[in-house]
Parts: sequence; C-alpha cells; structure tokens
Amino acid sequence: MLEDSERKKQFDSLFYQIVDVTHWVDGFDREKYKEVMIAICKMLHITKAVAEFFVNMAREKENEGEYYCDYDTGRGDKVVVNLRIVTGTQAVVRGQLFIAEEDEISDEDRGRAELVMRVILGMVARRRLQKAVEQFGFHDDAGYPNSRNFFRFVDIAGNEGRLKGMYAAHFDLHNFTMVNQEIGRLYGDEVIRNYFGMIRDSIGETGVLTRLGGDKFICIFSEEKKDVVLGLLSGTPVPYGENKVKRVLVSAAVGVYKIVEDSFQNQNEVMDKIMMASQMAKRSEEGAIVFYDVSMKNQSDHIKKVRKDFREALAGEEFRVFYQPKVNIDTGEITGAEALCRWIKPEDGRIISPMEFIPILEMNTDICDLDFYMLDHACKDIRRWLDEGILKPDEAGKVIRVSVNLSRKHLVDVDLLEHIMSIIDQNRVPHRFVEVELTETTTDVQFRDLKRVVRGLQDQGVSTAVDDFGVGYSSLNLIREIPWNVLKIDRCFLPQDDEPEDSITFMMFKHVISLAQDIGLECVVEGVETVKHLELLRKYCCNIAQGFYYDRPIPVKEFEQRLLQKKYVM
Ligand code: C2E
Ligand code: MG
Ligand code: MG
Repeated sequence: MLEDSERKKQFDSLFYQIVDVTHWVDGFDREKYKEVMIAICKMLHITKAVAEFFVNMAREKENEGEYYCDYDTGRGDKVVVNLRIVTGTQAVVRGQLFIAEEDEISDEDRGRAELVMRVILGMVARRRLQKAVEQFGFHDDAGYPNSRNFFRFVDIAGNEGRLKGMYAAHFDLHNFTMVNQEIGRLYGDEVIRNYFGMIRDSIGETGVLTRLGGDKFICIFSEEKKDVVLGLLSGTPVPYGENKVKRVLVSAAVGVYKIVEDSFQNQNEVMDKIMMASQMAKRSEEGAIVFYDVSMKNQSDHIKKVRKDFREALAGEEFRVFYQPKVNIDTGEITGAEALCRWIKPEDGRIISPMEFIPILEMNTDICDLDFYMLDHACKDIRRWLDEGILKPDEAGKVIRVSVNLSRKHLVDVDLLEHIMSIIDQNRVPHRFVEVELTETTTDVQFRDLKRVVRGLQDQGVSTAVDDFGVGYSSLNLIREIPWNVLKIDRCFLPQDDEPEDSITFMMFKHVISLAQDIGLECVVEGVETVKHLELLRKYCCNIAQGFYYDRPIPVKEFEQRLLQKKYVM
C-alpha cells in the first residue's frame, strides 16, 4: 500500500480524470474512459463495476433495463458499493462495485469508490437522456430518422466542408397505395422498411436517409454511391414476408440536386430544389429520376403565379366558355357541343389555351372551382338559348346536348353529384340538355367513385361521356361496368393519312367503334380535321364527329350563329 498522502494524490488525479472524461461535450472518449476506470479499479482493488438503467420503476421491477459492465476481472464476489438513484424523470440508475471475497476495503476507499460510482451513474443517466432526445427528436413514431436528422446532417457536413459535390434527393414511392391494396398494409409497411434498409445500406455512413412521412423520403449521398442509390430508386424487387421469399417491385419518383455549396441561405433551399425536381419526376413516366436545374425555379414561379392569378381571374370572370360543335356527318346537323375553357387576359385580350393552365390547376383542387364555374356559365347559356328559342328539341324530341368537362379531381368529393345538380337546377336547365365528360381513371378507388357519380347522373337524366377514350389505360371494364351514354374516341385513334389499312391503329379504330355501337353507346370521334378522316368515319359507320373540319372551339356568339343555321353545308 502506498502512503496515505500519496494514495490521496493518486486518487485525486484519477478522480479528476474520470470527471473530465465523463463530462464530455464533444463526444465521448471511450478509450480514455476505459483506461481511467481500470486504473481506479486497480487502485481501490475493485474486481467488477456494473451500472444499470431502467426507464421507470415498473421496468426496474421487471428487471428490464440496460446493463453496462465497465470492468470485470471475473472475480466479483462481494458488493462494497450499492447505489440506486431515481432521476427527475423517474428513471432509475443503479450501480454496484465488487471486491474479491478475501479482500477488505477501508472506509476511506469505500467513500472514494462511491464517489466514482456517482460520477458514472450521472454519466449513464445523461447518456440515456441524450439517446432519448435522439430517439424522440430525430426519429418519427415508426422509428424512421426524420427530417431533423437530414438537416442536422446538412449542418454538420456543411461545417466540415464535405457537403459540396454530394447529391440530395427527394423520392416518393410509385403507387404505394396500390401495393398496400395488393399485399396488405402490414406487408406494405415491411416492404417500405426493407426498401429503406436497402437504400440506407447503399448510402452508407457518409450520407443520410430520412423519412418525411408516408412514402416520401429525403436523402444525401456521395458521388461514389450515386449509381447504386439511383439504381435502387429507379426500381428494384424488395423482399418481404416469411423468410423474405416474396418480392414486390418498388420504384420511386426521384428529384435530385447536385449540391454546389457547403452552406445554404436557409434550410428550405435544398428542400425546395429537390421537391421541385421530384414533382417533375412525378409527372413523368414511372421510375423517373429528374435532376434539378435552374429552369425549374422559373417553372415553379410560373406555377405559383398561375395559382395566384387564377383566384382573381375567377372572381373577375376572365374565363370564357367556347363551344365546339359535334356534328352528324351524314346530315351536317349539330348534335351537341362541348364547352371548353379559354382564359382571356384583360390587359391585352390574349386567349390562353387550357393546356397552359389546366394541368397546373389539376395539381390541387383549383380545377374543381373552374369546372363548376364552367358548368354554371354553360347552364346560363343553355337557359338563355332555350328562352330565346335558339335551342329546342327537334320534331322527334331529340335535343342538342352541351357537354362540360369534369376533372378526375372531383371524384373524391362525396357531394359532387349534389353540387352538379344544384348548379343545373339553379339555372333551371332541363337535365337532358347537359352532358358531363369524364376521363378514364387509374386506380380502383377512383373507379368505384367514377361508377357512383356516373350512375347518379344517369338517375338524374344527365348524360355522361367517357372522354379521351384510348389515351390512358383504357380498360374494357370501364365501359362494361359503368353505364355511359357516349364514348368519345380520342384523336390518337384516328389513323394518319399515310397509315396503311392493315395497321394496328386502323384495326383498333374500326373495332372500338363497332364495340361501342354494339353495346349501345353513342360514339363521337374527336379531332376530325380532314376529308380523309370523314371518309374513315363513314366507312366504319360512326356518324358523329367533333373537330377542326367543322369548327374549332368558338366564342359563344359565333356558336349561336351555328345553332341558328342548324347544320353545316355538306
Ligand atoms: P378535351 O376535353 O378532349 O377537348 C377536346 C380538345 O381537342 C380541345 O382542346 C379541342 O380544341 C381539341 N380539338 C378539337 N378538335 C380538334 C382537331 O380537329 N384537331 C386537334 N388537333 N384538336 C382538336 P382544348 O380546348 O385545348 O382543351 C384541351 C383539354 O383541356 C380538353 O380536352 C380538356 O381535357 C381540358 N379542358 C378544357 N376545358 C376544360 C374545363 O372547363 N374543365 C376541365 N376539367 N378540363 C378542360
Ligand atoms: Mg372533353
Ligand atoms: Mg377529349
């Protein structure tokens, strides 16, 4: 044994060191901690040092906690220090120190050992707290790292100067609702977890992957990982289920930004860029990866401006209904008309085509307000034509129907039917003068809603048309299960003038027309521009055409002239 004063000095020095190493600010020096612990234990003849942490007392009772053994010679026989501390959050930290059976400890050394144990328990409690902060603050409820994790990475990597040259990406899984429907929600969750794991492993330690929520994620990865990460994102089979033998193909719409700076003006800057690119990716075909470029910023500004101007334009009635006649090709008579929207800019009278603003309005539900406005204005015109006698049933009681386009965005609205009918009824328009054009749907859910809406309209005597048939994923179920009145064949089905008669387009055109007619649907061909087109319609016995051959969509006054003339000169 050393002299008392020597021992005191030695202990003081070790004690300062243990306090220093356990009060870490910038990270914990595990090696140094071990080294000091060994020295202390040796000095005090401690053979084993144990600490335990329990989240609460109930867990302590069940002995369900975390166990840390900092030192063990394999001879922990006698307990000389036994401490139990309950923290402010009702967590419990316990510590024990042991010596060998044949050994004794002086009161002074016991006091020293206890002091050291208190320091260690303080550290365990702090470390556990930090873990909890990490868990709650940097992870979501499902345990995925959250966006705070992402931004922390941006800060740290930026400060260390290694952000520049890396890639940031936002991705959104394709059709995950459908995957959930097909394999069930539980397996769906497992697929996301496994996919996440695959991407995290490929990103590795030098990057970060976090979940924004649902099936949306953000990540940062280095140049060398780029190919493998983007490869996974563009589509890969993901195993799931027992023994992971089942697999489902998962792909994402990805927006990527190559980081050219080590710090951003604000955190949203990088997010804005990858979100913008990802939205573009979402609009393009499956598995799309889109890299951010400056033009997207202009485009996004344009979108914001259209959305903002739209509200004022709607209130200021800047939208006009143009009408495009549907014509019986045998008699030249007008059988109906489609109401199509035009935005007339008040400052210069410029006419803006719907293709320039409708896709933007369809990104949210703005389009629904426009559609109701169009329906209302078309109904007002119909009422006036009826009152003025311009529009009346023919001798056989047949009427000229005016069709209005309704975006698919309406389908989730459970009150859609009531809304449509109230607009028609408020304008006192007999239901049979109105037709609603709806396009094909892409999901089961939409299909169900579509069926409900079409049936409801039918019950009210409002005619319904499938618009743009053949453009999307047209299914035969669409025309078998839903009681449409009219099938509008898109102009992409119309064979080009130089198309050989045995081409697939020709055959499909012919058979789609005869299929529609055989099941009793009225058939309208869109985009009829030339005499050749007209001859084709005649040949395949479809007698209603809509297209530039007769008229472009025309302003209301011009259309009234057509109504008065009743028919086109043959
Ligand atoms: P749509 O409903 O299929 O309307 C037919 C489109 O084809 C119109 O384009 C029309 O001008 C064009 N068209 C007609 N005949 C011909 C032709 O012979 N040749 C060619 N090349 N094109 C022809 P428009 O007016 O530009 O409208 C485009 C699309 O915008 C519409 O396609 C419809 O999907 C949408 N849209 C227009 N107005 C509205 C509206 O009020 N609400 C909604 N939801 N969509 C609308
Ligand atoms: Mg249409
Ligand atoms: Mg169409």
